[in-house]
Amino acid sequence: MPLRPSTPLTIKLQLTLVFGALVVLAAVVLTWVLGEMLRERVRADAGRVLMLLSGNAAHVLADNLATNADMVDLLARRADVWAAGLDSPEAQRMLELIQATAPRTHLWVGVADADGTVRAATGGLLRGQSVAQRPWFQHGQAGPFVGDVHPAKLLATLLPADRDGEPQRFVDYAAPVVRDGQRVGVLGVHASWDWVGEVVDAVLSTQVGGSGVEIFIFDRDGRVIFAPGGQSQKLAAADVRMPALPGAAPAVATWHDGAEWLTAATRLPASRELGDLGWTIVAREPAATVFGDVRDASRHVLLAGVLAALVGALMVRFAAVRLGADVRRLSKAARDIELGVPGAHLPPAASSAELRSLSEALGRMTTRLMATQDDLERQVRERTAELEAANAELGRQAGTDPLTGLPNRRTFDLQLDHALAAARRSARPVAVLMIDADHFKRINDLHGHPVGDDVLVMLAGVLRARLRESDLLARYGGEEFVALLPDASQADAMAVAQALVAAVAARRHATYGRVTVSIGVAAAPPGEPVAWALMRQADEALYRAKAQGRNRACAHAGEAIEGGAAPPA
Ligand code: GH3
Ligand code: MG
Ligand code: MG
Repeated sequence: MPLRPSTPLTIKLQLTLVFGALVVLAAVVLTWVLGEMLRERVRADAGRVLMLLSGNAAHVLADNLATNADMVDLLARRADVWAAGLDSPEAQRMLELIQATAPRTHLWVGVADADGTVRAATGGLLRGQSVAQRPWFQHGQAGPFVGDVHPAKLLATLLPADRDGEPQRFVDYAAPVVRDGQRVGVLGVHASWDWVGEVVDAVLSTQVGGSGVEIFIFDRDGRVIFAPGGQSQKLAAADVRMPALPGAAPAVATWHDGAEWLTAATRLPASRELGDLGWTIVAREPAATVFGDVRDASRHVLLAGVLAALVGALMVRFAAVRLGADVRRLSKAARDIELGVPGAHLPPAASSAELRSLSEALGRMTTRLMATQDDLERQVRERTAELEAANAELGRQAGTDPLTGLPNRRTFDLQLDHALAAARRSARPVAVLMIDADHFKRINDLHGHPVGDDVLVMLAGVLRARLRESDLLARYGGEEFVALLPDASQADAMAVAQALVAAVAARRHATYGRVTVSIGVAAAPPGEPVAWALMRQADEALYRAKAQGRNRACAHAGEAIEGGAAPPA
């Protein structure tokens, strides 16, 4: 298959495609860059907020724990309270006073003796029972103690469920009871774990609602000890662990539920009162919420970019249509000029300054070229006419005898051929007279050539005057003339010849006087058209006229007639 050169795309299509693609590309790149910038910014901002929240929660929790621990330690050292014995009414009042400082949190306040037997307690709960095996009692004998969160063992059945309907869990505070410098027992407080939920709620309430921020607490082994929405024990039972974070900074982490959350963690600070509980307070926010705005913004930017591309492409298309129309108009005008359509000219372009100046320059050039072409054509016409005139003049001169102004032998020969051909067609006769001046040499000899010439001119005049318009008289050479008489028989020609002989003889030249001529007559009968034969006959007849004494006409094979003899009437 032969390869055909592909047709190039139109300016319109090319510009529209290039510009549209360019703007779309710009929009996509811009969206991506902007999205990344926004994403990083939003991540940093939201991360800072999460960090603040988890930090605040850790701070409040640590404060709360330390305050309670301090209070328990302080009261355990109040010797005056315990002076009357661990189960004295003063001691009982003290325990109830402690509970009264936080009735919803301090669910059980009691004191056990050195053997671990509960001697007094709020509500009388567990009195007389042994707590010797409980960690709070064992640690509390040695010094102030804050125990990690744990489910209630002995009290579980005696106390109401927590706020989420789950069995109570406690944080324990304990300190040795000192009397007279002796450690005589352990003061213990079981604080409901519920207060953690309250602290978290309080911290979160500083947040504008609806952000979906949640706070978790994990113990030193990464096990969940607090989860929002009453999920604490369920998640603990499922052994949910703290998600891995790449560093101390907030980061997007995948949680146990497979979802992505922006996550910030703060370790509960260690202190003298608490020791190091090893808790980590973690605040999280759904990544979808955090980056939702970024996604929306990116989508808007992209949409705006595509719209801009559309509008831009339309505008470019509009400009390109104008440009293309101008170029097409110019092409058509150029074609018209090429074809020579009358009135065709290059129109000035309006679509752009460059095209306008180009079209104007081309227009001026075309006008100049067309004017030059017209001028050239006119010059050629004039030169041609001059040449034709010169040619005609040359032809005329070539066919004319310069001395007498009569046609020359060349013209005569041509005309003779034509006349013979016409005669043959029309079956008419043609006659020829061969005319020779008599003793012409003498004229030259006696008076010189100029006089001879003058005589020749006179002879031409006399002969021409006696012939008809339709007869052709030519100078045949030297002092010889020849006459062609169309439509003349031999008799007609003979009569004319005699008239010519008589006319010449009757004329006197001013210098030389009388001049005579001899004439040989030959006529071609109808259908006898051979020129050279006719001329030879005339020549023979002339020879005979000379021979018979000159100043006469002699017909071919006919009688000679004396000069001066009157032509037949
Ligand atoms: P004939 O009667 O036998 O014809 O005698 P002729 O002297 O006329 O004949 P010839 O042929 O001997 O001489 C012709 C002369 O005509 C010779 C020549 O010098 C002269 N002649 C021919 N052409 C011209 C011309 O153009 N001008 C002049 N002045 N003389 C010419
Ligand atoms: Mg002669
Ligand atoms: Mg002669």
